[in-house]
Amino acid sequence: MFKPRFDNMFVRDLPGDPERGARLRQVEGSLYSHVDPTPVAAPHLLAYSAEMAAALGFSEADVATPGFAQLFGGNAFLDGMQPYAANYGGHQFGNWAGQLGDGRAISLGEVVNATGERWELQLKGAGLTPYSRGADGRAVLRSSVREFLCSEAMHHLGVPTTRALSLVGTGESVLRDMFYDGNAAPEPGAIVCRVAPSFIRFGNFELPASRGDTALLKQLVDFTVRRDFPELEGSGEALYADWFAQVCERTAAMVAHWMRVGFVHGVMNTDNMSILGLTIDYGPYGWVDNYDPDWTPNTTDAQRRRYRYGQQPNVAWWNLSRLAGALAPLFADTAPLQAGLDRYAASYDAADRANIAAKLGLAECRDDDVALMQSLQSLMQQAEIDMTLWFRALADIDTQAPALAPFDQSFYDEAKRRQAEPALGDWLSRYAARLAGDPLPPGQRHERMRKANPRYVLRNYLAQQAIDRAGQGDAEGIAELLDVLRHPYDDQPGREAFAQKRPDWARHKAGCSMLSCSS
Ligand code: AMP
Ligand code: MG
Repeated sequence: MFKPRFDNMFVRDLPGDPERGARLRQVEGSLYSHVDPTPVAAPHLLAYSAEMAAALGFSEADVATPGFAQLFGGNAFLDGMQPYAANYGGHQFGNWAGQLGDGRAISLGEVVNATGERWELQLKGAGLTPYSRGADGRAVLRSSVREFLCSEAMHHLGVPTTRALSLVGTGESVLRDMFYDGNAAPEPGAIVCRVAPSFIRFGNFELPASRGDTALLKQLVDFTVRRDFPELEGSGEALYADWFAQVCERTAAMVAHWMRVGFVHGVMNTDNMSILGLTIDYGPYGWVDNYDPDWTPNTTDAQRRRYRYGQQPNVAWWNLSRLAGALAPLFADTAPLQAGLDRYAASYDAADRANIAAKLGLAECRDDDVALMQSLQSLMQQAEIDMTLWFRALADIDTQAPALAPFDQSFYDEAKRRQAEPALGDWLSRYAARLAGDPLPPGQRHERMRKANPRYVLRNYLAQQAIDRAGQGDAEGIAELLDVLRHPYDDQPGREAFAQKRPDWARHKAGCSMLSCSS
């Protein structure tokens, strides 16, 4: 087995809990606790990411050995690993929730690979930690398949994200009440090895700030700037201000990507916001099928819809202002923090306009193009049009005589389609007229649109089909789906089945349109 080089800066440079092990407790003055994964009965590899394995230095032969599943099922260690659970807090659904921490995620260490990249390895579902808060520290197969697949799918879509190395079945079952209706049932357990340059969240800063521990807060900020933002120069408040503005910019870029591809995170609590602007913590997320800014996949949020698709840019701003509040003790006045938040608004606006230009195939987004996009979106909502299929087909219209033919597969409801046809026809004429005055040659426009409008996304029902097969002992569906999602912007002849709109049977099926937080 290949032996990666570990350089565990987080635990080396930051204060840790003097007590080891998983006894439940409030942990003050420390940013993490040392705790080992709890071994599992029969770890077996269900899926892995070839790209991630290679980036870390593991060969195909390494991956195929039983030792690999032992390692990433939490039953074995490599020299240099120093397992720990991070201590953080968070605002959940708008309320301060106090200490949360890694309740079932255990970091193994920071690999520095042959090209100098830093990749922290973290097992999700690895057993109890001091932060498990009465839960079991484990994860079920269905949510693990979803995290594994979506991490890699997002990467291939060009969306900033934590990655996934492996999906290991534990050979143990986990008790879950999936619908929160008092009917708990055993489900197969699994562990994902997630990978990222850093797993630090907004909540890591919020917790010491909430306790008035400014010294610890400052230590963590200094560490984060040094390890994760080495490009930033200067010192003191000016450096902190630049750093916060960077976090705001990265968060804006991430959310703009979500909006472009139709991704709904589902639980944008501040403990689920990465300081690097990476999509993190794949739970009850979903992909927009019929365009609907009010849609959320998360049943726990079905009433208030705080984290609905169209609300995500605003929620990210709200989360950044919670982070700003936590960082305030490091600043003499709040102006630099306000400037960072303004940077978020400006960056998001610019990214949104770039999305409009790219999705519509325009050289640039003019003010009236924003209105053009908005009128399309409200038509898509009224007529229940599939977002992915519509935008992909938009590149195929006859610009001389635009018609609805390329969009045949994009509609979910015949009556609504018929009703919307005249308005959609008008919109297409406006769009064609706009294209006639745009300098991009057709070939380039087509290319631009293909790169902004994926053909293949991880539709909720596709993930569920792979999960159902895996539950019956056939993990091949996961690898198959991952292989399709490797090239989301390419037409892949023979794989049309993966590019279809949500079938009728999936509209209200659990896992296919609505998900609970149970995982
Ligand atoms: P999430 O909503 O998945 O981001 O989780 C919120 C908090 O609950 C985090 O501190 C998680 O580590 C913790 N948590 C979620 N599920 C479990 C579990 N099965 N065992 C222990 N902690 C958990
Ligand atoms: Mg979380």
